[in-house]
Amino acid sequence: MANSDTEVVIVGGGAAGIAAGRRLAKAAINCLVVEARARLGGRAWTITDRSGFALDLGCGWLHSADRNPWAPIAESQGRTVDKSPPPWQKPALPIGFPLAEQGDFAQAQHAFYERLQTSTQKQPDGPASALFEPDCRWNNLITAVGTFISGAEFDQISARDFENYADNGVNWRVVEGYGATIAAYGEDLSVVLDCPVLQIDHSGRRLKIETAQGVITADQAIVTLPSAAFADKEFLFAPALPKKTEAARGLPLGLADKLFLSLADADQFEVDSRLFGRTDRAATATYHLRPFGRPQIEAYFAGSFAAELEAGGADAFFDFAVSELKGLFGSDFIRRVKPIHIHRWGADPFSRGAYSYALPGMADCRARLAAAVDDRLYFAGEACSRNDFSTAHGGWLTGVAAADQAISARQRKRV
Ligand SMILES: Cc1cc2nc3c(=O)[nH]c(=O)nc-3n(C[C@H](O)[C@H](O)[C@H](O)COP(=O)(O)OP(=O)(O)OC[C@H]3O[C@@H](n4cnc5c(N)ncnc54)[C@H](O)[C@@H]3O)c2cc1C
Repeated sequence: MANSDTEVVIVGGGAAGIAAGRRLAKAAINCLVVEARARLGGRAWTITDRSGFALDLGCGWLHSADRNPWAPIAESQGRTVDKSPPPWQKPALPIGFPLAEQGDFAQAQHAFYERLQTSTQKQPDGPASALFEPDCRWNNLITAVGTFISGAEFDQISARDFENYADNGVNWRVVEGYGATIAAYGEDLSVVLDCPVLQIDHSGRRLKIETAQGVITADQAIVTLPSAAFADKEFLFAPALPKKTEAARGLPLGLADKLFLSLADADQFEVDSRLFGRTDRAATATYHLRPFGRPQIEAYFAGSFAAELEAGGADAFFDFAVSELKGLFGSDFIRRVKPIHIHRWGADPFSRGAYSYALPGMADCRARLAAAVDDRLYFAGEACSRNDFSTAHGGWLTGVAAADQAISARQRKRV
């Protein structure tokens, strides 16, 4: 790409950027998606393994699926939307976790969520962990599940923000991949790949977007970068936008990583069953057995524990999973599993994490991050969503909202 000119530049080609681009294209507005990676999709990324299975390394579940805009999009692309219930809505296999204990745990977790709900209506915001019942034997497992949801431990998380998340409990999957669905939705857009945006100069009459492949001039920009990608880049905007940087810092990206394992003699297990590695510590993985009926295990690691494993490289995840599975099934089981793939999202320079959470007291950073600047710089991405943050549909909703703001501003200026 040499230097170019467009009406709207979209910075980042993930769920939010693609949704924004489609909305602008429908309104016949010239737009260009500028994406740092060599592919579209961002944290939505499907790869195909050697057996031909589509593996979602990032988002896999269409949360709040019956109101999730990606579900009809996947269907319109001719994909198969699997509506079978997710493993976490069924009891775990009773291996190392008898059903009676599962019942106790579910009660303790439910009581914790109820206290969270009540406290956020009555008290100033604080860390969600303040609502733990001291000495409850399930606090570690509640913490582990919290990391799977938020990517961070409850002592790091705003109780109010956690409570603001809206989920209607309907969860579906796309057999051919959620990431593939999102990337394909951007295929008809004008996109420049391998093109990190270095600076957005908004000092003049028109915007100047400096990229690794040249300068783009534009009337408006929609910035969809993950919060972690600009929290420490004060130089991203010229002049600087310290309030944006501050808002992004209030919304760090938590960490979650999936390790895919092949599983021999998989028929022994029920399709879409699950297990926790351990129930007595927060540093444990959850294992989804036979996803879609495939002879595989999807191991999920999150929070500071995933960050520790990332520091040890890809092998550290496999070694850890093997040690936990050995604890559950005995040493012979190890011969049945082999690593297929892992992507370390924390080490990925264009995301540096998995999904956003708000630090205690920082729930309102989401609205501050989303606020437009001078009616020509707009912001989108999952972290900008008050109720659907951390998700791909949150990305879609904020992308469309930002595009609508840009369209309205153009209409107003023409009048
Ligand atoms: C392991 C894991 C599991 C998940 N599971 C689920 C799930 O089951 N369901 C769900 O809904 N969500 C899930 N998510 C979260 C979901 O993937 C994200 O919330 C969503 O994809 C974010 O979309 P986005 O457009 O806001 O951001 P992104 O997808 O991060 O898009 C931002 C884009 O900006 C690009 N970029 C970065 N820096 C620059 C730069 N300087 N210049 C230009 N471009 C740049 C990035 O490459 C990226 O493409 C999961 C995520 C992970 C990592």
